[in-house]
Amino acid sequence: MRTLFYTWVLLSLFCSPIPLQGQLISYEKSICKSEINFLLSDVLNESKNLIAQAKVADYIPELGKADPNKTAIAFIDEKGNIYSKGDVHTQFTIQSISKIIALMIAVQERGEPYIFDRMGYYGTDQAFNSMEALNTRQKPLNPMMNAGAIVTTASILGKGDEGYQKILKMIRYITKNDKIDINQAVYLSEKATGNRNRAMFYLEKNFNLFTAEDEEALNNYFRQCSIEINVIDLAKIGYFFAHQGTRFDGDKTYFNPEITQLINSIMLTAGMYDYSGEYARKVGIPSKSGVGGGIVGAVPGKYGIATFNAALDAHGNSAAGIYMIEQLSKRLQLSIFK
Ligand code: GLN
Repeated sequence: MRTLFYTWVLLSLFCSPIPLQGQLISYEKSICKSEINFLLSDVLNESKNLIAQAKVADYIPELGKADPNKTAIAFIDEKGNIYSKGDVHTQFTIQSISKIIALMIAVQERGEPYIFDRMGYYGTDQAFNSMEALNTRQKPLNPMMNAGAIVTTASILGKGDEGYQKILKMIRYITKNDKIDINQAVYLSEKATGNRNRAMFYLEKNFNLFTAEDEEALNNYFRQCSIEINVIDLAKIGYFFAHQGTRFDGDKTYFNPEITQLINSIMLTAGMYDYSGEYARKVGIPSKSGVGGGIVGAVPGKYGIATFNAALDAHGNSAAGIYMIEQLSKRLQLSIFK
């Protein structure tokens, strides 16, 4: 604690004022490197207090093997400079965060009206795996819950695993990391135990929400969720959506303000499931979580943020991750509603 205070005093000489908990710095003020590094270490350390009350997901048995003590955070500034702290090389599966990439591809191929004829733009008070809307509306509520994401992926053009390959290719492009790949054990575990998702897939097929013929379309959803990533590569995805499809190194191959505006709005209303409303109020950053413990945030025009800790709260979001992003948002004043 004392070392932390002296570091704060020292850094404050160069880039004052540095925000401690409960303090703010101006959004407009450009942040210096030492300031960001200090802030990341600070929120990372504080976040560890939340791990004990949270629980690693084990409904997909392979996910239950994750170490709840691995915690990491990454931040990419406007210029694409990367800052990170903690267990930054720990790999985890991207899970539901893959839904924003799948949505981008599906909308690019099919157009927004086609996709949103088949699901809503609704937020939700239901859990991520709720299938209630399929009974009441014969359509998923939104593309961020499993029901909508399964239709989204099944709408991507191509046979066999082509839909999945497109998602993988896009993630490799955004992160500029060709080593990113599937965790085969997680994939097999999802496939073996994913009967609730399978039930939704067949109900949706019954309602003609997609034309895909067989379960390969559902397998592509399981595959996309099983892509392994680390916190730094995840922050690059945040940067991409924060910057209208510009990659962290400035590459504009997929520059598309229209599509990133759509994805960011959907993340804000549904990206954190039934916690999205409270999250919009407390954090105010378009974000997406996954049950692997990752959270990605896109601060429009500014920053890409990612956090990782596998222990989840009751909403299926990483408890330490939510804490870290909330603190960053408060101390740097990142809410889009500011
Ligand atoms: N693969 C997970 C599932 O289908 C994804 C859920 C999540 O990350 N919220 O249940």
